[in-house]
Amino acid sequence: MKIDPSERRRVALLGATGSIGTQTLDLAERHPERIEIVALAGGRQVEKLAERAVRHQPQAVCVGAPELQDPFRQAVGGAWDGALLAGEEGLRELAVWPGVSVVVNAVVGAAGLAPSLSALRAGKRLALANKESLVMAGHLIIAARDQSEVELIPIDSEHSAIFQCLAGRPPEAVRRVYITASGGPFRTRTSAQLQGVTPADALKHPTWQMGQRITIDSATLFNKGMELIEAAWLFGLSLDDVRVWVHPQSIVHALVELRDGSLITQMANPDMRLPIQIALAHPGDWGAVVEPCDLAQVGRLEFEPPDPGRFPCLRLAQEAARTGGTAPAVANAADEILVERFLTEEIGFLGIPEGIEALLMEHQAGSEPSFDEVMAADRWARAKAAEWTPSGAGLFPATGGR
Ligand code: NAD
Ligand code: MG
Repeated sequence: MKIDPSERRRVALLGATGSIGTQTLDLAERHPERIEIVALAGGRQVEKLAERAVRHQPQAVCVGAPELQDPFRQAVGGAWDGALLAGEEGLRELAVWPGVSVVVNAVVGAAGLAPSLSALRAGKRLALANKESLVMAGHLIIAARDQSEVELIPIDSEHSAIFQCLAGRPPEAVRRVYITASGGPFRTRTSAQLQGVTPADALKHPTWQMGQRITIDSATLFNKGMELIEAAWLFGLSLDDVRVWVHPQSIVHALVELRDGSLITQMANPDMRLPIQIALAHPGDWGAVVEPCDLAQVGRLEFEPPDPGRFPCLRLAQEAARTGGTAPAVANAADEILVERFLTEEIGFLGIPEGIEALLMEHQAGSEPSFDEVMAADRWARAKAAEWTPSGAGLFPATGGR
């Protein structure tokens, strides 16, 4: 189903209490004549979700688990009255809600995969922030997109930039793409220094304000590894034709290299409301959203290749993608759990790549997995990663590990 540029977007927003969710609702308030919030889903932050339900009056709301339904009802009082759903099944139901034309999937983690597939199969436009959907099961997502002939528009800033650069160009004109990485807070640290970093250090991202997992993934570069996989699936490129440049200013978001030697780029101040607006407005244009970038004030735009020696997560994500099958789902699930364990100071920063590598070595990846096989690999990796013990460099330095 294609959306007419003048049609009001009837949105189901999954992950409504997070960073991308909050910025999507900010746009809904700026464009009430263009966006109607039909459904909202959140995880465990019941009060925040209730506040948003009261403000936007959606037809349906989904909370993260059945036991959160009563606290949610109490929090809204009599100020919202609609369909209240819960958990994984509720999330899938919202993704196919009648009358919804766009599903914004801003859930973090593997929980986003099932609703992405449901939305595409139901013929809804998928505005996708949840990169895990493509990392875990790119083959299923792209097949669902192509079968339903629906639009899958990325919200991830680099991919949104590629989407803009490609507009109107024949696919055969493209040789490769580059996505940029700020390099995170540890761009200039040595491996020895990386061993001692704390969660508080890693949560200080130099250019973007985001949820906790993606912020840590930006510090390890696992996020960039996931984005390579995401770009390859979205734009039908081989993994070798998607590359990374570290670009500390975060102004150039991606570059498309054409066969004729041109490099086409998109530049903007780092603000996720721009890619969110593009994914909603397409093929229309809704005008001003971020301050235009004053390049004279930025002064310098620097680019350098990433250092896989100091940031092994980038290489590990690439290796998982090359192995294929359920390996990327395992790398993602391992990372989700290991990031949590780093945040609670159970393992050190270098424990994250060490643990991902250990799990990838142990896993039998197969090929062309079904949805159930992907989810089984996800569960296997979560359980393994929760009990995995790091060795020297991966221990949390302050505690000596637990
Ligand atoms: P966040 O942690 O701020 O928010 C995540 C949202 O998902 C919350 O609403 C949370 O309640 C919900 N959620 C988590 N687990 C859930 C579950 N099991 N069931 C239902 N809901 C659940 O994360 P974020 O930074 O907004 O990122 C969301 C997604 O967008 C991630 O995949 C991330 O990689 C991607 N992304 C984010 C940014 C950014 O700037 N924040 C940029 C690019 C891509
Ligand atoms: Mg990104």
